[in-house]
Parts: sequence; structure tokens; C-alpha cells
Amino acid sequence: MRTLDDATRLAYLKEMGITLWYQRGVPADDAVPEALPPAESLSQAISPDTSPSETVSPVSFVQADKTPSADVPDTAAWDQLLDEINHCQNCHLCQTRNRIVPGVGDRNADWLFVGEGPGYFEDQQGEPFVGRSGKLLDNMLAGMLLKRGSNVYIANIVKCRASEAGKDRQPTEEESAICMPFLERQIALIKPKIIVALGKTAATALLNTSRENSLSSMRRKIHYYQSGDRQIPLVITYHPSYLLRTPQGKQQAWEDLCMAMETLENSGV
Ligand code: SF4
Repeated sequence: MRTLDDATRLAYLKEMGITLWYQRGVPADDAVPEALPPAESLSQAISPDTSPSETVSPVSFVQADKTPSADVPDTAAWDQLLDEINHCQNCHLCQTRNRIVPGVGDRNADWLFVGEGPGYFEDQQGEPFVGRSGKLLDNMLAGMLLKRGSNVYIANIVKCRASEAGKDRQPTEEESAICMPFLERQIALIKPKIIVALGKTAATALLNTSRENSLSSMRRKIHYYQSGDRQIPLVITYHPSYLLRTPQGKQQAWEDLCMAMETLENSGV
């Protein structure tokens, strides 16, 4: 078991636009549950910028540490895959990339977070989600008692930066389709227990569905990603870059992440 002290957790949640994290009427002695709070408690906990005026007890958000899996990452298969990615010239994005961004994290992770593709800073550093959006993602992870590199893998649909006139742009559906087999192979190797799609580009590519679908129509549902004979629960939320531009979406994003945590908790795997 591990807990995040209240002050630290509240700081992370404040970054998500959430300043109240309390469960009303719970005796202090019962305030530390053995598992994640039930859905109703999580919903109660998500109240934007409300001062706690009643007698309330803080909920310590406790999550079981990842049980070491019998699955040992297949080093040879990873080496082969990364070699292919690092030398890939399958689409024209190879011509303008500075660095390829295959992904980063725990190859035996329960959690896989997927974005659309590297931007300027990621292209410079070779790592997904750096810069301001990366900091926000890290804070989102911390609010979930997760952190980059530990039980979390972070990847993108495309591995090379898509840009136009020097500015980041959304990868096209064709670019996404060409690069997607790399992510499919990463998923097959990682065997995550849950996938969080960050933004519509990632969601539609993973679900092999049209970008005409709105993100709001896809959120708040449990989808499934088929990897071989495994169906992996998939939750869709906003991309951190969107949340930086639209902070009022942070609470909805937190609700999505709570749904993902509950899904994993209830899956019993
Ligand atoms: S975006 Fe993907 S398919 Fe295109 S060159 Fe990069 S690694 Fe290859």
C-alpha cells in the first residue's frame, strides 16, 4: 500500500482545477479505505473550488502497489521494434523530424496513456509529453498516485512530429494509419490492463473509427481495444494541450481518470 500525503495530493489536484477532495460524514478512523473509493465517493470528491464548510474527513486515496507480474518484458522483441521505429521511413514525416519519439515508461505497466504525436519539444528531446502539457500530464498521473516510468507507459499514435510552417499540427488519418502498427506492437508487448486515450486523434485511431465523432460523444464510456485475444478497457479524455487552453475541462478530465481507476479496480486483474 502507498498513500500520497494530503497536502501533496491536493496540490496535484489543484493543478487539475480540483480543490476539494473530501468524503462527507466518514469517521476519521474509517477514512483510509483498503481500495479505491466507490464511484459515488469519487463523484462527491470532485467539486470545483468549493470551500469545505461542514465537518468533513479527508479521504486518503489508497491504491494497491502493482503486483509484480509473471510477464517479463520481451527484450528481444522490444529491441527489434525500437530498431524498426528508430529507422522508420514509412511516411513523409521522417523527412522533417529531428528525433523519433517511440514512447517512454515501464514496459510491464498496467497503465498506457496514448497521445496523438510529438510536438516541437518532444521532437527536440525524443520523449513524449514534455513541456507544459507534459507537466500537466505528470500532475494528472500524480493525482492518480501514478508517475511516469513506474507502472505507466506513455506513447503516441505517430512517432514523428507533424508540422506545418514550423507549427505543430494534427497528424493526418493517413499518417496515423501508417504509424499505428508500431503502437499495436507496443501494446501487444506491454499488455496494459487499461488504456487512456488523450484526445480525439488518439481515441479514433485506437478505436479505428471516424474523426467525425466528437470527443464528447466518446467520453464517459468504457471502450475496448482488441489486442490479439485480449480486450483492453479504454477510457477517453482530453489531451493535456487542450486542457491548458481550456482549463474548465480539467474537472471533466479528472472524472474520466476516476472512471479509468474504477474500471481497473473493478476488473479484478
Ligand atoms: S511517423 Fe511513424 S510511420 Fe511515419 S516515419 Fe515516423 S515512425 Fe515511420
